[in-house]
Amino acid sequence: MHELSITQGMLEIVLRHAQRARAQRITHINLVIGDLTSIVDDSVQFYFDFISQDTIAEGAQLVFQRTPATFRCQDCGNTFTPNDRDFTCPHCGEMKVDVVAGNEFRVESIEVE
Ligand SMILES: [Zn+2]
Repeated sequence: MHELSITQGMLEIVLRHAQRARAQRITHINLVIGDLTSIVDDSVQFYFDFISQDTIAEGAQLVFQRTPATFRCQDCGNTFTPNDRDFTCPHCGEMKVDVVAGNEFRVESIEVE
């Protein structure tokens, strides 16, 4: 599953940071997930609860922050948030767009004890 490998990678990152900070326990993990990813919060939480057992991250609360998709039109440079599945530029109707935001999945911060 997509979310399992993502969650494993995320756990490795937070454990590394927590070790460096000599933390006893990780209490919160603040995550940023772009709306264009197909990542489902509940799945991440589900896998996390499973794979974090017997680590200092066990029982940590995952806090999800969603970032909306943002595109930039290659033709006129307009940036916009697409509605639904309509990815054309609302300014000029161009369909060639770059993704500016919405593809991210990252650990924003962790809170430890
Ligand atoms: Zn445009």
